[in-house]
Amino acid sequence: MKFKRLEDAELTGKTAIVRVDFNVPRGPDGSVSDATRIEAALPTINYLRQAGAKTVLLSHFGRPKGEPNPALSLEFIIAPLSEMLGYDVTFSEKLDKSAIDAMEAGDVILIENTRFAAQETQGDAGMAQYIASHGNVFIQDAFSAAHRRHVSSAVIGEYLPTYAGLAMERELDHLAQALEHPKAPVMAVVGGAKVSTKIDLLTNLVDKLDILVIGGGMANTFLAAQGHKVGKSLCEHDLADTARKIMTRAAKANCEIILPHDVVVAKEFKAHAESRACGLDEVAADDMILDAGPETVNLLADYMDKAATLIWNGPLGAFELPPFDTSTVEAAKYAAKLTKAGKLIAVAGGGDTVAALKHAGAANDFTFISTAGGAFLEWMEGKTLPGVDILRSE
Ligand code: AMP
Repeated sequence: MKFKRLEDAELTGKTAIVRVDFNVPRGPDGSVSDATRIEAALPTINYLRQAGAKTVLLSHFGRPKGEPNPALSLEFIIAPLSEMLGYDVTFSEKLDKSAIDAMEAGDVILIENTRFAAQETQGDAGMAQYIASHGNVFIQDAFSAAHRRHVSSAVIGEYLPTYAGLAMERELDHLAQALEHPKAPVMAVVGGAKVSTKIDLLTNLVDKLDILVIGGGMANTFLAAQGHKVGKSLCEHDLADTARKIMTRAAKANCEIILPHDVVVAKEFKAHAESRACGLDEVAADDMILDAGPETVNLLADYMDKAATLIWNGPLGAFELPPFDTSTVEAAKYAAKLTKAGKLIAVAGGGDTVAALKHAGAANDFTFISTAGGAFLEWMEGKTLPGVDILRSE
C-alpha cells in the first residue's frame, strides 16, 4: 500500500493534530515503567518542531469508559516527555481555540485523555470535526491504535489532510517488507495459548507463507486433531475440525505447517515443575505439554536457515514459567543470530511476543519489533485497519 508520509506534508506555520500512543505501563509509584511508546513518538514531535509547526498531541490512556477519571489523566506524561524532548510540553484538559492561539511555532501541547469523552470510541463525526477545526493537518503516529475506528485514531483523518508520522511509517514499511512484498521463502512462527483467538490469522497466513510453525498451547489443538494424545494439556478439542481445515488449506496453498516433533511435559502448571522432554507418543494422561522439545528447536533452526523472511507472533511454550521458556528463548536467539548476520529479515509483534523476545535477549537483533498488540494481529489477519486506511495515497 502506498501511503502519505510526513515528508509530503506542508507544515511550516501550520497546526498539526498528532495521534500518539501514550498508553504506557506505570509502576507502583505511578511513574512510567516502560517508556518505549513515548520514545517512539519523539522523532515525529522533533520533526514537527523543526518544521515550525504547532503540535497538538492526542492519546488515550487506559479505559475510562467515556467519562473523566483523574486516575487515568495523561498529565503524568508531561514530565518524562519534556525531559526526553529537552523542551517543556504544555498540558491542557481540553482542546479549544485559546489553547492553540497561546502557542508559538515549534510549541507542543498534550491534550487530556481522548477517552474521557464517550464520543471517542464511538467514532463520532461531530467530535472529529471539532478537533479537526483546530488544526491544518492530521498526523497518525499510533499504529497500535490504528485497528480501532475511534475519533482520534481514524475519523479525524476524514476531515483533514492526513499523513503517517515517522513511527507509523517505520511500522508500515517493515510490515510491508514482511508480508506485502517479502523476500521468499517466508516463514512465520505463531505461538500462544489458543487457536480460537488466532483462526483468522492462521487462515490468512497459510495463503501467503511458505512455512508456518505452530507452537505453544495452540499446537496441542492441532496435535490432538491429528490423533495425538495430549493428556491434560491446554487444548481446544472442539476446534479439531477448524485445525484440520487450516491444514488442508495450507496443503492446497503450498504452505508447509510445522508442528512440534517432541515436547516438554510436566504434571503441574508452575515454574520449575518437574518436567521431561518426550516424543509425541509418550505423553501420559496426566501430563501437560508446556513447551516444544529440543528436536523441534533444532528443526526450527534448520527451517530458519532456509528462510529469507521470518514473522513471529506468540511464544512456543509457557514462557513465563521457567524452564518452559527454553524453546522460545533458543529459537528466538537463533533467529536473532541469523538476522544479525544479515541472513534473515525478522519481524515480530503482538503483546506477549515482545516480552518473550526481550526475555530471550533477542529483541535488539530482530529487524523490527512492533509495539502494537491488537493492531499487529489484525494486520497479520489481512484486515484493513481504519487508522491506516486514512493514510492511503492511491
Ligand atoms: P497469546 O496471548 O495467545 O499469545 O498466548 C500467550 C500465552 O500462552 C502465554 O501466557 C503462555 O504462557 C501461554 N502458553 C504458551 N504455550 C502454552 C502451553 N503449552 N500450555 C499453556 N499455556 C501456554
